Amino acid sequence: MPTLTGGCLCGAIRYTVDADIKELRACHCTNCQKGSGAGGSVNAMLPSAAVKFTKGTPKRYTGIADSGRTLHRYFCGDCGSPLYSQRETTPENLALRIGTLDNPGPMKLVAHIWTKSARSWDHMDPGTQQIAGQPDAPPAK
Ligand SMILES: [Zn+2]
Ligand SMILES: [Zn+2]
Repeated sequence: MPTLTGGCLCGAIRYTVDADIKELRACHCTNCQKGSGAGGSVNAMLPSAAVKFTKGTPKRYTGIADSGRTLHRYFCGDCGSPLYSQRETTPENLALRIGTLDNPGPMKLVAHIWTKSARSWDHMDPGTQQIAGQPDAPPAK
C-alpha cells in the first residue's frame, strides 16, 4: 500500500496517511461552507493515528458544529488551507479534508451529510447515501 502524502497550499504543513482510503463523505453543513469558502467539505474518516504531520503544526479553531458538538478545525496558519477536523469528544478519529492530498488515487464519494443545508449549486449523485443532518447524532437532551 503506497503511503499517501498531502499538505496545505503553501507547503508549510505536510503530512502522511497510513491508511487505504476508498470511501469519502461530503459535508454540507453551514460551518463547512464557511470554513471552505465553497459548498462544504469532502472528507475521509480516519483513525487519528493514521495521520502523521511531518512538517509544521496546523492552527486550530474550535467552534460549535451544526450538530451541537464542539469541533476542532485545523488549518494552515499561513495560507488558510483547511486540513482536518476532530470532535472534542473523539480525538481518536479525524475527518481529513481530502483535497489536501497530493496523490489521492481512486476514491469514491459514498455519502452526503447535512443535505438540508446544501447550497443550490451542489449536485449530489442519487447513487450516494444522503442524510439530512448528522448521521450519528446523539439523542436530543
Ligand atoms: Zn499553508
Ligand atoms: Zn460540515
